[in-house]
Amino acid sequence: GLLAPSTDRPRILVVANQKGGVGKTTTAINLGTALAAVGERVLIVDLDPQGNASTGLGIGRHERKVSAYDVLIGSALIEDAVVPTKVPGLDIVPSTMDLLGAELELASVPRRSHRLRDALARMPRNGKARETSEAETQMTPRPYSYLLIDCPPSLNLLTINAMTAADAILVPLQCEFFALEGLSQLLRTVERVKTSLNPRLEIQGIVLTMFDQRNKLSDQVASDVRGYLGDKVYRTVIPRNVRISEAPSYGKPALVYDHRCAGSKAYMKLAAEMIQRERALKRNAA
Ligand code: ADP
Ligand code: MG
Repeated sequence: GLLAPSTDRPRILVVANQKGGVGKTTTAINLGTALAAVGERVLIVDLDPQGNASTGLGIGRHERKVSAYDVLIGSALIEDAVVPTKVPGLDIVPSTMDLLGAELELASVPRRSHRLRDALARMPRNGKARETSEAETQMTPRPYSYLLIDCPPSLNLLTINAMTAADAILVPLQCEFFALEGLSQLLRTVERVKTSLNPRLEIQGIVLTMFDQRNKLSDQVASDVRGYLGDKVYRTVIPRNVRISEAPSYGKPALVYDHRCAGSKAYMKLAAEMIQRERALKRNAA
C-alpha cells in the first residue's frame, strides 16, 4: 500500500506486582481494551498459568492450542500463538496451565530469562504469521503499538522473563496496609533486573486500583504512595466497582460488558493519561 508501515517498535509494558488480587489482570484487559478503543493496536501476552486474562477476554480452551508456554520453551513462534479477541484491535497470546511447568523446564536452558524477549524480537511487528498472499496484503493489520504482559502473582522466572522483555513496568497497587512494603520489594527486583538483565527497564507508572473512597486508610496509603513515587503515580484512580468484577465471568472486558460504569470510565481515562505520558516521553527523547 501507499502507507508505509510505521518503523516504531511497539511499546512493551509489563503489568506486575507479586501480590495476587491487586488488579493486574483487570488492568491488562481493560487498559488494553481502552487503548484499542482509541485506535491503538494492542497485544496482551498472558504469562499467568491461571490464564485469567485469556478467560476474561473470552478465549476458550480450544482456542489455546498454541500458548505462551510453547513460545517460552521454543516449540512455537509467538505469531502462531496470537489469537484475536472480540475487541477490534486487541489480540492475545493465551496462557495454559502448562506454564506451571515452564520454570522447571527452563531451569537449564540457555538464556532462560530472555526467552520472551528473544521471541518478541523475532515477531513480525503486526503479529501476522508468515508470508501473506497479494490479496491478503491489503488487509494486513497495522503493527502493534502496545504490548501488555500480564504476570503471575510472584517474582518467578515468568515475571523475570516479562521484565527482561519489557521497556517499562506498570504496577497496579491496591491501597491497603502492606502496599508500600510490597512495592519496595518489587522496586528492588526491578533494580536487580536492570543491573543484570535489562538496563532499559523503567517504571512506567503506578495505578491505584480498587480504590474505596469511603475508606480513610485508602486515602492515607494513596498519599503515602504519591509522596514516595510522585509523578510516577497516575492521577487516574480505578474505583472499586462491582461491574468490573462481574465482567470476566461473561468473557468480556468491563468496557464491553458495561462501558458506562465508573470502572470502565476510569480505565478510559487511564488510557488517555497513559498515551499523554508516552507522548511526553517521546518528545523528551527526541
Ligand atoms: P490480579 O491479576 O492482580 O491477581 P485481578 O485483576 O484478577 O488481580 O483482580 C482480583 C479480583 O478483584 C478479581 O476478581 C477482579 O474481578 C476484582 N477486581 C479487580 N479490579 C476491581 C475493581 N476496580 N473493582 C472491583 N473488583 C475488582
Ligand atoms: Mg491476574
